[in-house]
Amino acid sequence: MNTNKSIILRVAVPTPLRQTFDYLAPAGCSPAALQAGIRVRVPFGHRELVGVLLEVVAEPQIAASKLKQVIELIDINPVIPAEVLTLCLWAADYYHHPIGDVLETALPVLLRQGKPAVASIEPNWCLTEQGQVIDLTTLTRARRQADILIWLKSQPSGVTAKQLKEYKVPRTILTALCEKGLVKEASFLPSPASGRRVGDEGWDVSRSVENRREVNTLTPTPLPQAGEGIYHQDMLELNAAQQVALTAILTALNTFQIFLLDGVTGSGKTEVYLQSITKILAQQKQVLVLVPEIGLTPQTIQRFRERFSVPVVALHSGLSDKERLNAWLSAKDGTAKIIIGTRSAIFTPFQHLGLIIVDEEHDVSFKQQDGFRYHARDLAIMIAQAQQIPIVLGSATPSLETLSRAKQGRYQHLHLPERAGVAEPPRFCVLDIRNKYLEEGLSEPLLQAMREHLQQGDQVMLFLNRRGYAPVMMCHACGWMSKCKRCDARMTFHHEPKRLHCHHCDGRRPVPIKCDDCGVKDLQIIGLGTERLEEALKKYFPAVSIARIDRDSTQRKGSMENLLDGVQRGDYQILVGTQMLAKGHHFPNVTLVGIIDADSGFFSSDFRAIERMGQLVLQVAGRAGRVSKPGTVVIQTHHPDHLLLHQLLRDSYRQFATTLLAEREQAELPPFGYLALFRAEVHQAEQAMHFLEQIKGLATKLGESLPIWGPVSAPMARRAGKFRVQLLISSKHRPVLQRCLKRLLPDIEKLKSKQQVRWSLDVDPLEMF
Ligand code: ADP
Ligand code: ZN
Ligand code: ZN
Repeated sequence: MNTNKSIILRVAVPTPLRQTFDYLAPAGCSPAALQAGIRVRVPFGHRELVGVLLEVVAEPQIAASKLKQVIELIDINPVIPAEVLTLCLWAADYYHHPIGDVLETALPVLLRQGKPAVASIEPNWCLTEQGQVIDLTTLTRARRQADILIWLKSQPSGVTAKQLKEYKVPRTILTALCEKGLVKEASFLPSPASGRRVGDEGWDVSRSVENRREVNTLTPTPLPQAGEGIYHQDMLELNAAQQVALTAILTALNTFQIFLLDGVTGSGKTEVYLQSITKILAQQKQVLVLVPEIGLTPQTIQRFRERFSVPVVALHSGLSDKERLNAWLSAKDGTAKIIIGTRSAIFTPFQHLGLIIVDEEHDVSFKQQDGFRYHARDLAIMIAQAQQIPIVLGSATPSLETLSRAKQGRYQHLHLPERAGVAEPPRFCVLDIRNKYLEEGLSEPLLQAMREHLQQGDQVMLFLNRRGYAPVMMCHACGWMSKCKRCDARMTFHHEPKRLHCHHCDGRRPVPIKCDDCGVKDLQIIGLGTERLEEALKKYFPAVSIARIDRDSTQRKGSMENLLDGVQRGDYQILVGTQMLAKGHHFPNVTLVGIIDADSGFFSSDFRAIERMGQLVLQVAGRAGRVSKPGTVVIQTHHPDHLLLHQLLRDSYRQFATTLLAEREQAELPPFGYLALFRAEVHQAEQAMHFLEQIKGLATKLGESLPIWGPVSAPMARRAGKFRVQLLISSKHRPVLQRCLKRLLPDIEKLKSKQQVRWSLDVDPLEMF
């Protein structure tokens, strides 16, 4: 009898079931090959799935006679390193999410599919030796060529075809540079398969590549020596506050310490990040930089690439599956030194991580809102703790969670109170628009201010967080409104292209000519969206060119960059946009910011809405007057005397946050209480109610006397045809809540009524719908 028959493997399989599965090891495999973190192909029902080996166990969960055998071990060495596996197991436990699905989220698509964990080769262009040393003044008649050479010099690891396209390098110029012997094509293996060790640097292109005209050996990336050779752009001399922050961070290298880097937009947080990174690189370690979804712009990446000559890898949604795998592998083997990415980059494996930076830590995009609902900032803290390294949370408007921990002394609070360099802070001006005549949402004082700034040749930015032309169409005869048939929401009227569009279920319909209900042809367009604002501005400022930046105007790839470049070049004098404008962009010539409607945050059913509103107002304001021109921010409101608005604008974000924290403490809401939200969605409202009532019953029986709210209809009771009901459980103590959930879930899994509903559990929910 084969002895392997008795080796039992516990495997995480990508299914929605909250459990692991046991299998027999394949016949004849060596026990040494059975390392946690390797992928295995397993039979599952009638299918074959790619799972991950978690451990070898002595006793199976089911009768030994029922165990099936693993079909194949896919990896020789663990593709998921121990640290990442530990993180995933922790997260599956904390968020009460199936481990199989957690690992599925953590792995690049190609690895999920069972493809080999090896990098693929991409064509790549770089300077030749001659190109490195050429005197650019000899190229005076070919400015574009010179520009491209300068750019390539800043990209020591070469550029891909995609980057060439992004930089708009015409094929003809590239060919010309190659013919002059200044640029060469090389094959590029971003990351060797495995088995590399620290210090084993450089681009390995020694393998032969088929179908390549020429294979050159790239100059290996120089190993950073302490403090030299890793950056090629001069560091700025830090101001006193920056110096204090940098020193604090550097003192904590090699220890676990959480920093809140709290500084207004433009106060030089990024400069502090960059200089901290310099030190980490000198220690031969890697850095993970997490940025919000909208924050990962080419400008952001460029700023890192310009400063450092080590490989900087950006993990963004535009990457192909191959590129993503390459990036993942290059971080794993230590080739990539700086990884910049959005939420999911938190699962990147590292050879030797030395520092984590979470920029704009308050941003909601760090929390995944469906499926595996993890918070990347919170997981980042777990990683820092596990690896005993520092983590810097940076923001101009820290989340109340982070602020309160800093107040308790659990995080070290670093302040950058002033704008760096010569930039002055913006001046706020609250405009009472009660009883004021508004033309398409614009008050006369705001229009007047715009005229003045435009006359001086400056740029103006208007912020309105509502895309489309108008939020609703109404029948003047009977009051009918353009409601979505599948949601409890109104359909937005859009001009380009003309349609009614539900922003919640993405449903669209042609614009009706007559009323759905009474048939009268008297439909009116009510309210204001960015399209309509743009149209009104064209009327007021016919000679001025306007850029509109919202989800509709930036749908085509690259259109966002084109618009932003145009703004930088001064092609546009007025910018109109939604919250896409609020993050990460530098608009040095914008001197006036108008916030068209600051009131929506005051009336939301979500207790976090005011915090969000305050953050948004300051983030938008932070775009203005960044360099030497002071900015003015005009805020139109019907509540000019609102205490929180005063505190936000007259006093400080600190004061505003202090008031909100006091309210939260009173109500035992986060960060003074911990929440878990059960959501159920189903075509019949009663079924969802019934299911959550049962959960409530189970929770009550636990005898922990936790406050439970609901089940109640979600703020938007119906979405995409399904009724949505929710149940909120809270506790003043995180471990108590965790213990209850842990006891609750197995019972929920046994409920028969679970079959009929789509349900989810959101631990530490950020949105209440
Ligand atoms: P933040 O990340 O806080 O928004 P940045 O680091 O982007 O701030 O800095 C804002 C601007 O100020 C940038 O143009 C940057 O080059 C400049 N800056 C930052 N620190 C200094 C400094 N110490 N001296 C001069 N200029 C600085
Ligand atoms: Zn009607
Ligand atoms: Zn809808």
